Amino acid sequence: MADCLFCKIINGEIPSTKIYEDEYVYAFADIEPQAPFHGIFVPKKHIDSPAFIDGENSIYVAKIYEAIAKVAKTEKLDKGFRVVANCGEEGGQTVGHLHFHLLARRYLQWPPG
Ligand code: 5GP
Ligand code: ZN
Repeated sequence: MADCLFCKIINGEIPSTKIYEDEYVYAFADIEPQAPFHGIFVPKKHIDSPAFIDGENSIYVAKIYEAIAKVAKTEKLDKGFRVVANCGEEGGQTVGHLHFHLLARRYLQWPPG
C-alpha cells in the first residue's frame, strides 16, 4: 500500500533497525520503546488490522507467531514476554498495518490501562 508507514518500512523506503526477516514477516525495533525489548512484527502483505484477518491471509499471522518464538529464543527472553496487537481507535491502534508488539525485559502489568 503506497501510503502506509509500515509498508514503507518493509520496502526500505523508511529506515528501521531489523530484528528478524523471512518470506512472510519483517520485525524491527519500535522507535518509542515501551520496554527494554520492544519489537514490532508485521506481515509483508498489507493487512489493515486484526479485524481483517481471514482464511486467505492467516498464514501471515501463523508465521509471525513462529517468528516471535524464534526471536524470544535467540534474545533469551526466558523470563517471559507479552505479545500485543492493538485494533482500531479504542484498541489504541495508531498505524493501519497489522502489527504485533513483542515486549520484554521488565515486569508487565495486567490488566493493561
Ligand atoms: P500501535 O500504536 O499502532 O499499536 O503501534 C504502532 C507502533 O509503531 C508504536 O509503538 C510506535 O512507536 C511505532 N512507530 C511509529 N512510527 C514508527 C517509525 O517510523 N519507526 C518505528 N521503528 N516505529 C514506529
Ligand atoms: Zn501497509
